[in-house]
Amino acid sequence: MKLGLEGEDTLSGVMDAVTFLRQINLGEDTGCHGRVLVVGGGNVAIDAARCARRIPGCEVTLVYRRTREEMPAYADEIKGALQEGITILELASPVRLEGDQGKLTRAVCLKNELGPPDESGRQRPVPVPGSEFILSCDTLIPAIGQYPDDLGMDGLPGIGITGRNRVKVDGITFQTGDPVVFAGGDLVLGPATVAQAIGQGRAAAQQIHEFIQRRKAGTWTWKTVRLRRTPKGMIGTRLMRQRPFQKTDPNTGQKTGLPPD
Ligand SMILES: Cc1cc2nc3c(=O)[nH]c(=O)nc-3n(C[C@H](O)[C@H](O)[C@H](O)COP(=O)(O)OP(=O)(O)OC[C@H]3O[C@@H](n4cnc5c(N)ncnc54)[C@H](O)[C@@H]3O)c2cc1C
Repeated sequence: MKLGLEGEDTLSGVMDAVTFLRQINLGEDTGCHGRVLVVGGGNVAIDAARCARRIPGCEVTLVYRRTREEMPAYADEIKGALQEGITILELASPVRLEGDQGKLTRAVCLKNELGPPDESGRQRPVPVPGSEFILSCDTLIPAIGQYPDDLGMDGLPGIGITGRNRVKVDGITFQTGDPVVFAGGDLVLGPATVAQAIGQGRAAAQQIHEFIQRRKAGTWTWKTVRLRRTPKGMIGTRLMRQRPFQKTDPNTGQKTGLPPD
C-alpha cells in the first residue's frame, strides 16, 4: 500500500516493501542504498528493514507511527532488528517526501502522540501540530500493509468485495456471497499471520465438508434472493439452510435424505 504522500510516485528511491523483498530474494539489484527509512511496524516492515540493513553501506531507521509496544511485528523480530543495528523511531509519520533532481533526499515528518483507541483497540496516533522535522534519506520503503491487487473474480457474480479489495464471507461458514465459493486468510482478513490463515483454512475445510455432506443429504437448499449490481459485480445470491427438501419414501412415509426427483 502507498503512503499517499507528495513525491512518492515521482522520486526515485521510493520502493514498495514486497517488491523490494521479492527482488532481494531473487538476487536482483534493488537500488536500495545509503540512509534507508522503512515506514511501518509489522512483520513486513521488519523483514524489509533487516534485509536492507544487510546491504553493505545501508543505515536503516524504522519509522513507526505508534510506540514500539504497539508494533504488530513479532517481539523476537523487533529484538533481532535492534540487535542488527536498526534504529526504531517511534511516534513519527512522514508527511511529505522531497528530493533533488528527481532523487529522494529527505522525508518531512511529524511527531505523534497517542490518542483514544481506534477500532483495533490500540491508541490512535495523533499528529502534533508544528512538530515537523526532517529525516535525510536515500531510500524509503513503505511497509504499511498490502491489499489483493487483481482478484480476477469478475466472472464470479455474487462475491462481495469490500472497499479495501477484500472478500466478504460469512463469519461462521466462510462462504462468500456465492455459496459454493469459500474464502479465508489474508484475502478476507487483510494482512494477518500464517497462524490465522492456517486456522481459517482448517475451519473453512470443515465447513466445506459439512456443506457437501448436507447437500448430499438434501438438508440444504438453494434460494436466490434479489440480485443487485454493484461496481464490483452482482451480489445477493444466498444459500438457505432451512426448509430441507428431502424426498419421502412413498411406501413408508419416511424421509430418505435424498433430493426430490
Ligand atoms: C513480507 C512478508 C512477511 C511476513 N512475515 C510474517 C511472519 O513473520 N509471520 C507471520 O505469521 N506472517 C507473516 N506474514 C503474513 C503471512 O505471510 C500471511 O498472513 C499468510 O501468508 C496469508 O496466507 P494466505 O494463504 O491467506 O495467503 P498467501 O500466503 O498470500 O497465499 C495465497 C496464494 O494464492 C495464490 N493466488 C493468488 N491469486 C490467485 C489466483 N487468482 N489463482 C490462484 N492462486 C492465486 C498466491 O500465489 C498465493 O500462493 C508476512 C507477509 C509478508 C508479505
